[in-house]
Amino acid sequence: MAPGERIGHFIGGEWVTSESGRSYRKRSPWSGEVLAEVAAGDGEDARRAIVAAHEAFEGWAGALPWRRQQIFLCAADILERRRDEVLGALAVETGCGRVFGEVQVGFALKLLRQAAQLGYRPAGELLPSDVEGTRAAAVRRPVGVVGAIAPWNASLTLAGRAVVGPLALGNTVVLKPSEESPYTGGALWAEILQEAGLPAGTFNVVTHAPGEAGAVGDAMLASPLVKRINFTGSTPTGRRLAEKAGTYLKRVVLQLSGQNPLIVAADADVGYAVDAAAYGAFVHQGQVCMCARRVYVERPLAEEFTTRFAAKVATLPTGDPSDPATVVGPVINEWALALLERRVNEAVELGARVLAGGVPAPPCYPATVLADVPDEAEIAQGETFGPVVIVEAVDSAEEAVARANASDLGLAASIITGDTRRGLRLASTLEVGIVHVNDQPVNDEPQMPFGGVRDSGWGRFGLGFAAEEFCELRWVTVRDQDREFPF
Ligand code: ADP
Repeated sequence: MAPGERIGHFIGGEWVTSESGRSYRKRSPWSGEVLAEVAAGDGEDARRAIVAAHEAFEGWAGALPWRRQQIFLCAADILERRRDEVLGALAVETGCGRVFGEVQVGFALKLLRQAAQLGYRPAGELLPSDVEGTRAAAVRRPVGVVGAIAPWNASLTLAGRAVVGPLALGNTVVLKPSEESPYTGGALWAEILQEAGLPAGTFNVVTHAPGEAGAVGDAMLASPLVKRINFTGSTPTGRRLAEKAGTYLKRVVLQLSGQNPLIVAADADVGYAVDAAAYGAFVHQGQVCMCARRVYVERPLAEEFTTRFAAKVATLPTGDPSDPATVVGPVINEWALALLERRVNEAVELGARVLAGGVPAPPCYPATVLADVPDEAEIAQGETFGPVVIVEAVDSAEEAVARANASDLGLAASIITGDTRRGLRLASTLEVGIVHVNDQPVNDEPQMPFGGVRDSGWGRFGLGFAAEEFCELRWVTVRDQDREFPF
């Protein structure tokens, strides 16, 4: 991503400006420099992209599996060739450091290579019928145009999973990236898939100015040509989208916020638990929906864990995301920094203690550990997207499960214990979509059923499961003899 670049919409295989001619400046969260002049799209641009995707659908849905396979394998090779450049772009555009950048590129490569096999999966099954002479089948078919709405935080992987599964199943896609990641969460995917040979119109990207996502999202919701929408983002935005989707009877996959617990049992290896919690809470500055937001520690281990955890967190290197030694880079923008500052200050006013961090260093917020946070503090309730974690001593892991289940959110959770059987028992009582025993909560692989329950959303990404979301199941029968009718 070179400063001064222009990023247009990618519609029907062409880079185009907005119908309105408007654009906005995307700045680096670390240096503040203008990285690109980006097309500021609206409903009109979204409709153009939807029509292009609709027109491309028949050809793409009919493309033979080997052809689709070649394109995804070729796209993976292109991404691999561009790895260093992509890591650099993730750092300047979203403040993503080396560790999480490698996680993103690694995921995207596996996603593309696994997706290459999807065209060879069975397209349905034969079903026994009680009607003599009837042969019946359930046949999976692509739905048509899929609208994809992705966030900035894991821009490469979250845009990738929103797009690649639906495409590999024979759908065409219109992607709306976040205004904070028009390149790594949008235009970059268009460059790669176009070079790999994806036919024009099969994949389209419409960008928009800050605060103007609604116009593009509404156009996707309202268009009868768009058959499904997938959305990854915050619970409040997802809820608004789902309400509108109800009006149009449009199916949406929702991947929303998390308030993810990490439970440390008294018999845990404390060194391992400290390292796991530090990674789980602070990877990518805590700006991952799966990040550990609350660490519950059984009382006998609480003091030792908390002392060692706070000491480790206080030494995490903070600063330039392009420096491979940096662990905590900048938060995405000034609004996010101000929110972190306000919520930590509010918790402290209500009696919380700061055990590490807590003093902003713009554009960074340091890795911060809070204790004694009262339940009424904002930071103890919804999701606060940033490098702040709450540590709390509990009488038992069962109490921690009850505390975690009291939240409305249910994305990811993890339990660290020396007794795996107890860990599995506890895991079965957590009301979440994803749970890990003896790990921290930030994990993803393209083939896994990723998603939350309760206010963390519904539907699953994961290539083996994407067919449930992005295909229509049709009941087909054929008779091998005439049947008798009653009249
Ligand atoms: P985040 O905190 O990750 O930015 P959001 O839920 O605000 O969470 O954003 C996730 C995605 O949803 C982004 O692509 C954003 O532009 C988009 N978005 C925000 N508001 C709307 C809306 N009204 N309709 C459709 N998409 C929206």
